[in-house]
Amino acid sequence: MEVISAPEAMTAWSEARRKQDRRIALVPTMGYLHDGHLSLIRWAVERAEDAVVSIFVNPTQFGPQEDFGAYPRDMERDLALCRRAGTRVVFAPEVEDMYPAGFQTVVSVKEVSRPLCGATRPGHFDGVATVVTKLFTIVRPHWGVFGEKDYQQLLVIKRFTRDLNLGVEVVGRPTLREPDGLAMSSRNKYLTPEQRPSALSLSRSLALAEELVAKGEREAESILRKIRDMIEATPGTEIDYAELRDPETLVQVNRVDKPALLALAVKVGRARLIDNRIIG
Ligand code: AMP
Repeated sequence: MEVISAPEAMTAWSEARRKQDRRIALVPTMGYLHDGHLSLIRWAVERAEDAVVSIFVNPTQFGPQEDFGAYPRDMERDLALCRRAGTRVVFAPEVEDMYPAGFQTVVSVKEVSRPLCGATRPGHFDGVATVVTKLFTIVRPHWGVFGEKDYQQLLVIKRFTRDLNLGVEVVGRPTLREPDGLAMSSRNKYLTPEQRPSALSLSRSLALAEELVAKGEREAESILRKIRDMIEATPGTEIDYAELRDPETLVQVNRVDKPALLALAVKVGRARLIDNRIIG
């Protein structure tokens, strides 16, 4: 396994592989890898001749009051996990490699970036879209592999990849969970043992919503009220949003007459957790 930090060296590596008709799958990550990331890497290793994992904590997708500085990092462990999973290259650039002096370009997706995390984390998806565009143009993969846990992010990435003709097939993969249902996330590290049970309010809400719809409930307002009540009754939680939206357009839905996306963002202590499920 090679570790490459210079974008030019990464592109040269990919160009050489492409000339040999080898297909490349890229798994972009911010590191501190868990089994969710590894499930994406495994998909890449199985599907493509060359699996590339990028590890880059991207400053431009964090707000000024957010956890960029505190975000957990463990490069040695990440490299060992990537190597063991069969990764060919880890692309791990420095911030100055990605954003050299004078950098001033932003990729911005208008509609699907607006609600949910776009509303509560202004500028977040501009940062995501810009860095993933750069990763796609630097690594030149055939596939980009992403998790459905970040559902809105996946929609944003699919949108600009198509709009800008980047020629990458964007693949979404299911959310991996802890045995008790908590979606795996690098930010779960922020949870104290006392807060850990409260974090289950997210996955429990998703199950409750599914149950309500299965029993015949269709009114979004009623479903969301029950979910909010349940989360608010859980100690140490603060709801960022709990919304039902169209899974393709992210337009708000009033009735669950067809499958709808239930999207949640909840602060538990200093961890801001997200989760989602298509219900109905
Ligand atoms: P991150 O390092 O948090 O930016 O995540 C890197 C990639 O892993 C993104 O495409 C995420 O959606 C995906 N991912 C994060 N958590 C999970 C999970 N629990 N299951 C599957 N994929 C995940």
